[in-house]
Amino acid sequence: MLDKIVIANRGEIALRILRACKELGIKTVAVHSTADRDLKHVLLADETICIGSARSIDSYLNIPRLISAAEVSGAEAIHPGYGFLSENADFAEQVEQSGFTFIGPRAETIRMMGDKVSAINAMKRSGVPCVPGSDGPLDGDAEKNKAHGRRIGYPVIIKASGGGGGRGMRVVRREEDLIEAIDMTRAEAKAAFDNDIVYMEKYLENPRHVEIQVLADGQGHAVHLGERDCSMQRRHQKVVEEAPAPGITEEMRKFIGERCTQACLEIDYRGAGTFEFLYENGEFFFIEMNTRVQVEHPVTEMVTGVDIIKEQLRIAAGLPLSFTQDDIKIRGHAVECRINAEDPERFLPSPGKIEMFHAPGGMGVRWESHIYSGYTVPPYYDSMIGKLITYGETRDVAIVRMRNALNEMIVEGIKTNISLQQSIMLDEHFQHGGTNIHYLEKKLGL
Ligand code: ADP
Repeated sequence: MLDKIVIANRGEIALRILRACKELGIKTVAVHSTADRDLKHVLLADETICIGSARSIDSYLNIPRLISAAEVSGAEAIHPGYGFLSENADFAEQVEQSGFTFIGPRAETIRMMGDKVSAINAMKRSGVPCVPGSDGPLDGDAEKNKAHGRRIGYPVIIKASGGGGGRGMRVVRREEDLIEAIDMTRAEAKAAFDNDIVYMEKYLENPRHVEIQVLADGQGHAVHLGERDCSMQRRHQKVVEEAPAPGITEEMRKFIGERCTQACLEIDYRGAGTFEFLYENGEFFFIEMNTRVQVEHPVTEMVTGVDIIKEQLRIAAGLPLSFTQDDIKIRGHAVECRINAEDPERFLPSPGKIEMFHAPGGMGVRWESHIYSGYTVPPYYDSMIGKLITYGETRDVAIVRMRNALNEMIVEGIKTNISLQQSIMLDEHFQHGGTNIHYLEKKLGL
C-alpha cells in the first residue's frame, strides 16, 4: 500500500479521500489555499502545506506548487479528486515525470478522453454505442456538412471536441442555420478551449442521463459497478443522482456494462472512471468519459458495497482488483442530493459564516461534507457544501429517508438549496422515476 499521499483538492472530496487513507493506514498531506486553513480535512491531516492565495489559479490549479508539496513532504502519490486538475493530462504527466504516482489513469488516456472526437472514435472501436454523428471533425466544406446534417436528421447539435462543463454546444433545427452555427461554435471553441475542432451529433430531444461506473487495475482486469441516473439537472449541473437508474433491467445493465469494461481493457484503462450516456427509448448513446472519481460516486458505493476511493488508492499502489464482475451485486437503492450554499430561487452563491449546523442521521443516511458550526464558506470556489445520501431496500424507502433527512438538517447563517431538494423529493414525477434531463428546468419555469 502507499505510505503517504498529497490530497490535491478541497472541501468534501478532500475529506472523503482523507477518511479512505486513514482506513488504509496511508499518511495524508493536505494542501490548501490561504482561504482554506479551516477546512475540516486540513484540521485532520497528518501534515498541511499552504500552497498559495485564495484564487484557484494560485493554489489548487498551480502545478509546480502541488508537485513541490509532494517533494517537500516526501509523499509518493497525488490524488486529484474531481474538478481542478483531475482531468488535466499535463498535470498527470508532470506528476509522473517528477517521480510521483498520479492517482488516476495514464496521461495519454486522459488526453484521449478529453478530446471528444478521439474519445468517440475509441468507443466506437470497442463497440460502445455512440450518438449518430459526423464520425470525426467537421471541415470547412459546406456541402459536405449539409450532407452530414441530412444523413443524421435534424435537429443536430454542433459540439466542440475540446469542450467541457456544458459549454461549446449549439443545437441546429434547420439546414438554413447549419453553416452559421458551425462557424460560431468553432469560433467560440477556439476562444474558450484553444481548439477549433467541432463535430456534429444527432440532438436527442428528451433523453435521460445514465452513466456507468467502472474500475480497472491496468493489469488486465476491469469491472463495472452498474449505473447511476443523473437526469435531474439545472444548466447541465447535476442536482440529484441515484443508483440504480429507474427502469434499467439487469439485462440492459449487463449489455452496456460489458461494453464499458471491454472498452477499458482495449484502451488499457487504469483507475476509476465513468462512461456517460444519454438514454432515450431504451437505447444508450455514449457522450463522454470522465477519467476521475465523480461527485455522485457514493450512490454506487451504497448499492454495491464497494469503496471507490479505497479502490483508487489500491490500484495506484499497483494492486490488482480484489473482486470480479460476478462479485458485484446491486442491492437496494440510493439517492444523493447535492447541498449548495446558494439562494434556492435565484441560484446565486451564498458564501458566509455557518452560524449553526445540525446534521441529519439515522439508518441509511450518509452525510459527506466538510462543514461545521462556525465554518465560513469562502466565496472563491464551487458552492457545493455537502452531499446527502440515503439508502433503502427500495427506491421509495430511500426517498422517504431523504425527505426526513432534509427536514432534519439545519444550516443557519447562509442560504442553501435544501428547500429546492425538498420540493424535488415531493415531486410526483420524480417519485414515479425516469424524468428526463429537461424536467427540472421545466419544473422551475426556466
Ligand atoms: P460537457 O463535457 O460539456 O459536459 P457533454 O458532451 O457531456 O459535454 O454534454 C453535456 C450535456 O449536453 C449533456 O448532459 C446533455 O444534456 C447535452 N447534450 C450533449 N450532447 C447531446 C446530444 N447529442 N443530444 C442532446 N443533448 C446533448
